[in-house]
Amino acid sequence: MDLLKIKPLQAIACSRYFPIAPQIFMLLVYVALFAGSVCVSYEPKIAPYLGNTNLESQLVWNIWWPVVLVLAALIGHVWCSVCPLELVNSLAGKIGLKLRAPRILRSGWIVTALFAFILFGAVGYFGVRSAPRYMSFYLASILSLAFLSGLIWEKRSFCSYMCPLGSIIGMYSCIAAFEWRADKSTACAECETKDCVAKKNQYKLIGHSCTSYLHPAKIPNNRECLLCTHCMKACPSSNFRFSLRLPFADFFTKLRLKYSEMAMLLLLIGFVNGNWKGLAVFILIPLFFCLLVSWKSPRAMLNAFMVLLIPITAAAHMLHAFRGIIWNWPVYKYNFMDPIGIHTATKLVEKTLVIDRGGMSSAWNLYGDMTGLLYGIAFVACVAIIVKSPLTEKIGKTGKFFLILSAAAYIASFYIKVKW
Ligand code: SF4
Ligand code: SF4
Repeated sequence: MDLLKIKPLQAIACSRYFPIAPQIFMLLVYVALFAGSVCVSYEPKIAPYLGNTNLESQLVWNIWWPVVLVLAALIGHVWCSVCPLELVNSLAGKIGLKLRAPRILRSGWIVTALFAFILFGAVGYFGVRSAPRYMSFYLASILSLAFLSGLIWEKRSFCSYMCPLGSIIGMYSCIAAFEWRADKSTACAECETKDCVAKKNQYKLIGHSCTSYLHPAKIPNNRECLLCTHCMKACPSSNFRFSLRLPFADFFTKLRLKYSEMAMLLLLIGFVNGNWKGLAVFILIPLFFCLLVSWKSPRAMLNAFMVLLIPITAAAHMLHAFRGIIWNWPVYKYNFMDPIGIHTATKLVEKTLVIDRGGMSSAWNLYGDMTGLLYGIAFVACVAIIVKSPLTEKIGKTGKFFLILSAAAYIASFYIKVKW
């Protein structure tokens, strides 16, 4: 089913105002978030509570973040299509030096290092999730990085090589039940202008050729396509479709992760699981045995092992995010009564206010059912990938058996906490 045949969706995709108008709106929201958090001053003792009592922190970390993750796993890079950082990066690219990105940037290690810095530095050390002022510095730094990288390097250098969120969304988009592709291969084969990749169109504001290093007629999977629809506007015959497909479809292609992406995935797993020591037990030990039984094809085994972690991590990540929404549900009314959150946080510290978290049992029951369902789906998908995907074609039966055990062990890691 091609969703572009649905008139309102077709109108949006063909519109000159999409995605620019929503991007401008999101940029205004971004600036408002910065302005609203940069002046918030507070005593250090209330800082641990502000992450929940400050409306902006709630909106960014407990609402926007889960929604982006769910959309990525269901539909794909929907957030990226309206992301204000892409707009800033592309606009800077129009007036910038347009240099080819250096190899280190293209290797993926920079985005992995940035993600490590965000996890351990921005979140772990500075506490951007709970300190509004640090969040404003964080927002300003990311925006500046998008602008500066656009001034120096060609195309969407920030989105392609520096945005950890884009990288995570790219992995989760492989699960999505939708794909953006060129429609008729004959039209592309006969096309003389190839406007969707033409260099002359690269920096057009509307209807530019693909700046995600894709040839729209040969998109291999959902990882890089930002659903920006510019290629369709560039194409003389609008030869595109946005169709339903089987979920997890990209896992049945020759999906290949770089070493830098594997490192990024391990960081993500440690963050989602919240148990770095458990990583050794539930990831590295199973990986050791998998490599041992497939010593003739270690790269294929390593790649298959890591790719299989994506659906399970996505399920865990979504559950992690939903748990935050349910936990914070009783706090939302205080967020609207006191958007800055300082009075509420002070009362919580002084124990003159206690958040009543009772009455949420039906939500927690639903959460319990969702946990079983999502992990069940992820495990079944993993088994199907192990049995059917070309990813495992070089791996023998014993190796496949160990891969199934590893997937089960990884799911178990979310139930068993390892301490030593
Ligand atoms: S411009 Fe359109 S028809 Fe030509 S190659 Fe690109 S998608 Fe195909
Ligand atoms: S393929 Fe088209 S929709 Fe996808 S990122 Fe490139 S220009 Fe945007």
